[in-house]
Amino acid sequence: MTEQNAIAGYLKTTGNKSLDIKAALIDNDGVLFDSMKNHTRAWVKLMKKNGIKCTRDEFYLYEGMTGSEIIKKKFKEGAGKVITDAEAVALYGVKGRYFTELGEVPAMPGTMATLEALKAANIERVLVTGSMQQSLLDRIDTEYPGMFGEHRVTGHDVRRGKPSPEPYLKGALKAGVQPNQCIVIENAPLGVQAGHAAGCFTIGVTTGPIPEKDLYKAGADIVYPSMEALAQALPALIEAIKQAKA
Ligand code: MG
Repeated sequence: MTEQNAIAGYLKTTGNKSLDIKAALIDNDGVLFDSMKNHTRAWVKLMKKNGIKCTRDEFYLYEGMTGSEIIKKKFKEGAGKVITDAEAVALYGVKGRYFTELGEVPAMPGTMATLEALKAANIERVLVTGSMQQSLLDRIDTEYPGMFGEHRVTGHDVRRGKPSPEPYLKGALKAGVQPNQCIVIENAPLGVQAGHAAGCFTIGVTTGPIPEKDLYKAGADIVYPSMEALAQALPALIEAIKQAKA
């Protein structure tokens, strides 16, 4: 998929005449931080402690849902248990502790260069995550100084996690722009679905085990094999966006 074809496809399916990108709505886990290995480990530990069968791989597919949504789903399916909101919050706290105990996760290679390219193009960077993992959210400004302003969407802001478009619609709203003035940067199928459903130009990045075709199937307009590859392609993509007309 070339940048030009991806943009033409987006304009065709949305019926937009051109693209005037003002903001980039950027996911956290698997995009800003290489954190998914530790998240899936922590999830499996929580489930095993509660006698619920699971595999690590399935948690890559749930990525983007809020912690409460994942807990309610797994306890219902795995143990026939209905979890209250308060119980879900407590269990998510335990999972967060397991995640923190696994040690500090690295910033994702290529992400700083991506953010710099967006900044140079005058595109606002807006965090959009369903996560409430404070130990990670607190590191954003030290790892990416000056890259994110006050407009941020976290698990505290959304009622419905991805694949609902709600998180990305909220991100656009906070930035004061229309969803079709936003690009989304996502690594997870449910996150890609959410960006696509919100009407944003959605970039998938395969930073984990999920194959490229699954991100296209979820509605990605274009997929890159790494954040480094996205950083490299971004100036050309931004230029192609400026030139594009339906
Ligand atoms: Mg992610």
